[in-house]
Amino acid sequence: MTESAVKKVTEHSPEEIERVKEWINTEEYKEKNFAREALVVNPAHACQPLGAQMVASGFEGTLPFVHGSQGCASYFRSTFTRHFREPSAATCDAMTEDGAVFGGQNNLFEGLENAYTLYKPKMLAVYTTCMPEVIGDDLTAFIKNAKTAGHVPEELPIPYANTPSFNGTHIHGFDAMLKSILEYLTKDRKVEEKCTGKLNLIPGFDGNIGNLREYQHYLELMDIPYVMMPDISEVFDSGCDGNYKLYPGGTPLEEAAESINGKATIALQKYSTVQTMRLVNSEFSGVHEVMPMPMGIEKTDAFLMKLSELFDKPIPEALKKERARAVDAMTDAQQYLHGKKLAVFGDPDYLLGIVSFLLEMGAHPYHVVCSRATKKFKKEMDALLETSEYGKNCSVYVNKDLWHMRSLLMTDPVDGIIGDTHGKWAARDAGIPLFRIGFPIIDRVNLHRSPVVGYQGVINMISMIANKFLDIKDETCEDQWFEMMR
Ligand code: SF4
Repeated sequence: MTESAVKKVTEHSPEEIERVKEWINTEEYKEKNFAREALVVNPAHACQPLGAQMVASGFEGTLPFVHGSQGCASYFRSTFTRHFREPSAATCDAMTEDGAVFGGQNNLFEGLENAYTLYKPKMLAVYTTCMPEVIGDDLTAFIKNAKTAGHVPEELPIPYANTPSFNGTHIHGFDAMLKSILEYLTKDRKVEEKCTGKLNLIPGFDGNIGNLREYQHYLELMDIPYVMMPDISEVFDSGCDGNYKLYPGGTPLEEAAESINGKATIALQKYSTVQTMRLVNSEFSGVHEVMPMPMGIEKTDAFLMKLSELFDKPIPEALKKERARAVDAMTDAQQYLHGKKLAVFGDPDYLLGIVSFLLEMGAHPYHVVCSRATKKFKKEMDALLETSEYGKNCSVYVNKDLWHMRSLLMTDPVDGIIGDTHGKWAARDAGIPLFRIGFPIIDRVNLHRSPVVGYQGVINMISMIANKFLDIKDETCEDQWFEMMR
């Protein structure tokens, strides 16, 4: 290609590039950035169907089934694989242009038949991408027709959820799919006077397997029988023994069906379980509680005390010792976090947990950014911040993205950011560390195995944050302040 054939669409002088680089760090630019309405840049959330897929993956023998575009399905699978560094089984009926024009029923028929024939699932969980939602595909009718026409056996469970991503995020898709599966499996299973004696534990959308294992650890120590719904712990964190398993774990379907007769149901996230808990409240036996994620001492205490009260079990000595170690770790490290200003972004339930922990440590949550949340969430966050003097001067921004957050960091700086991998550009531009908590974390290893809930979570978060600040001190201090001991 000759030089004259290449015509650049835009060309800017190095001086102009430098000028704009400076300008986007100013108050003037921030005002323009916050006036933006029709454009979203780097939002801190994923698609509805991705959340639905997390739920579908967490039930025994269940094949997640995407009704929609192949590209969307690849995105969900690759995101899980990058975050967990595990295979993420899911299939898709690959709608294309003709499906968009004539409807996706034929794709669904063929897809369901192939998926059942090839992968022999015990359950197929179907959820949608944007395309079938835009054209209004009727999943109720399509699945009924697929069974009537013999594409799949009549008795095969096929719960489904409508998960349009133009109207919600991964937490809403999670909620819709979980509600649908529980509604399907528990239908006609309620028996008056029957009680399984078990706790139904609903962890909510959580990409941290360490958190799930921490809950399991507490329940086992307290000798409380439970069923976790969904349970992705083995699915996305199974050992490497040389054998690939298509269905490595998940909540047993029979136990999920019996959950309607449970002794108690606890959801550990409020905003990702709204529809599910509505179903539980209207149909399930026993006591129903929605609690905050147990992050920090106070919220972990509340969770354990609730378990103790509901199941009439004392707090075991081993847990009292765990708590004491966490308090000791807080005391040892308080001087490294005390007074530090932090920006925090992520899902509503995670944000409430992280902020609660920071306030306990005497750190200042300073910019709190949630890319999709309601006024109710903002009110709850504001109320939490008001409980501590360290919450003063913190601003909460809902329905703002990470490009908004960048403006905040450049005009009103903080010492660090807490959030998922998507925050790394803003952190780099601002020259501050990113503490990776949330989903997805696709540029560091094993953080999805390191709990941030419970007493161990307190120790882990302190270690991550305090040690990074100490690293920075060692790397940047003048020679006379370079000390052996910190
Ligand atoms: S936003 Fe819609 S079209 Fe885009 S990846 Fe998500 S489901 Fe697919």
